[in-house]
Amino acid sequence: MQIRLDGNVFVKILDQTHDQFADLFRRRYGKGTHYSTPLYHHVMKIGKTALDGLAPFDRFPELAGQLESDLMQPPGRLVKQVSDGGVVKFVTRLADDLDIESVVIPMFRRHSLCVSSQVGCRMGCRFCRTGKMGLLRNLTAEEIVWQVFAARHRLGFNVRNVVFMGMGEPLDNLDNTIQAIRVLTDQRGLNIARRYITVSTVGLTTGIDRLARLDGPPVNLAISLNAPDDDIRSRLMPINRSIPMAVLRDTLLGYPLSKKSVFFVAYVLIQGVNDRHEHAGSLARYLAPMKVKLNLIPYNPAPGSGLKPPSAETYERFHDWLVAEKIFVRRRGEKGGRIQAACGQLGGQYR
Ligand code: SF4
Repeated sequence: MQIRLDGNVFVKILDQTHDQFADLFRRRYGKGTHYSTPLYHHVMKIGKTALDGLAPFDRFPELAGQLESDLMQPPGRLVKQVSDGGVVKFVTRLADDLDIESVVIPMFRRHSLCVSSQVGCRMGCRFCRTGKMGLLRNLTAEEIVWQVFAARHRLGFNVRNVVFMGMGEPLDNLDNTIQAIRVLTDQRGLNIARRYITVSTVGLTTGIDRLARLDGPPVNLAISLNAPDDDIRSRLMPINRSIPMAVLRDTLLGYPLSKKSVFFVAYVLIQGVNDRHEHAGSLARYLAPMKVKLNLIPYNPAPGSGLKPPSAETYERFHDWLVAEKIFVRRRGEKGGRIQAACGQLGGQYR
């Protein structure tokens, strides 16, 4: 939803915090928060994209008419929705005809939403389907926020948690990711608490440093690690050649974790690659200085990757080795696997 600011510039409600929107609204329409606040509430909290007789405007038909003619369409439209065991994947087709995918995961009475931050990704992780697409483009803050708006207001999910873990590397689209976080957490809008936002990254240290300096409480960080040492990690994740694991850990140790927080670490277990006993030991030594919860994820096979999922025995054995090393480890199954919504499987195959 957009408001025309002048001949060429568009103000988009979905990519503005309340205060940013109020400022732009005043400049464009000469009206203060008596008007802009209810409009912001009407869109962000209630989910309307038309005025529908909104109170302060019904006495000003001229302004209402102007607003109606200025209101534009949301940045995309929902074109597909599939579900598997409570997990719902929905596809948004953007204005330039590209598709992005978002995944709703049920939690107790609430939902967690996994949002995309880019169309495709340029990080090239070997185990990831999105990485095979390459980077087509960054999403705007509006397109990121739209996914939460659509899940809540169009599909009716009670979204409390937002995880930047869909298509793309959010810290490779840093400005838009940060602006989206500001909008999502605005109490006068979508009002998602910072502690319920998690940004997943391969470990782009510049971006982690910027998130560390954000005003207000820190967001959670999830690190896609997947390897016990630089040798294996560089083979799986090209980013490790420029940002080795020691540099990543130093950066994480400087992150302002709140007292109750931990780093979430993802470890995709791949048969014959990172699944040996000594790998569990090296991983434990690497993680030892940090507060972490490790999600152990069996590799979801992607065509052409040349990688194999672990057997059930391998997976259980590796899990037990980590527990013996005193790592807090959670088993992560393949929830959503049948609809290609599991980790590393998002990739636009619905076109
Ligand atoms: S795992 Fe994440 S960072 Fe790596 S290629 Fe896939 S989407 Fe990109």
